[in-house]
Amino acid sequence: VRELIDKVRAVFVEALDELGWMDEASKKKAQEKAMSIREQVGYPDYILEERNKHLDKEYSNLNFSEDLYFENGLQNLEASAQRSLKKLREKVDPNLWIIGAAVVNAFYSPNRNQIVFPAGILQPPFFSKEQPQALNFGGIGMVIGHEITHGFDDSGRNFDKNGNMLDWWSNFSAQHFQEQSQCMIYQYGNYSWDLADNQNVNGFSTLGENIADNGGVRQAYEAYLKWVREGGKDQQLPGLQMTHDQLFFINYAQVWCGSYRPEFAVQSIKTDVHSPLKYRQVSPRPARLRPGAPRSVSGCP
Ligand SMILES: [Zn+2]
Repeated sequence: VRELIDKVRAVFVEALDELGWMDEASKKKAQEKAMSIREQVGYPDYILEERNKHLDKEYSNLNFSEDLYFENGLQNLEASAQRSLKKLREKVDPNLWIIGAAVVNAFYSPNRNQIVFPAGILQPPFFSKEQPQALNFGGIGMVIGHEITHGFDDSGRNFDKNGNMLDWWSNFSAQHFQEQSQCMIYQYGNYSWDLADNQNVNGFSTLGENIADNGGVRQAYEAYLKWVREGGKDQQLPGLQMTHDQLFFINYAQVWCGSYRPEFAVQSIKTDVHSPLKYRQVSPRPARLRPGAPRSVSGCP
């Protein structure tokens, strides 16, 4: 997984060079920031160390009972509030794990400039050391690119390589970022969701996630092609007559495939910062932005 992170990060840094809308000074800062992103993979070492009491201490105040669901929930709330309060006026611990190891998700922390991939997400279909690399790049590879890109989305870009809120963008690059964001706001804002009474996606509130999704899949795909170019030999998937390219995109679609109840769709379209799952997969462009059509920097509707 660390190798995959290095490969996707390298593609991100190389792609910066080719951007026409960013000036050299901002590119250099962006490259520095990308190279400074720290990663946490799997779980903190101490949880497997025989004599390490850290984990026991973490749970020492919790007394769960099998029969008291509500009270258990209250205990959790109290414990997490106390954990937060303990941090007040304490020095920041850069090695603190911000999420549990069993969680099937991944994270970017802007004020730590850190990406986290708990053990929970490091299993099929996202990742396996036994499965074809096309699946790994389309699964966890895309997620790695997604989290890295969060460091440069409309929110993450306001923090520097050390996680401090600081504007490191030139006026030129910032202005073009805004203009290009407008395209994405427009693109996603035109998707309507059948399950949510055909309401449209909110292009503004989903912008950061859409930037991360688009960046993530592009970086992961490029990183896969590069791995093959550099001599990587991938396996076939028995019983499926599919090319490696197809497997990449099938796994990408597979990991983001899901279903909603209509009631939840109505709630999500107003509250979820992610686009509906069907638009997080390879998203059809609206007819006016067809692939191959010239894309001017500022000419988007
Ligand atoms: Zn995200």
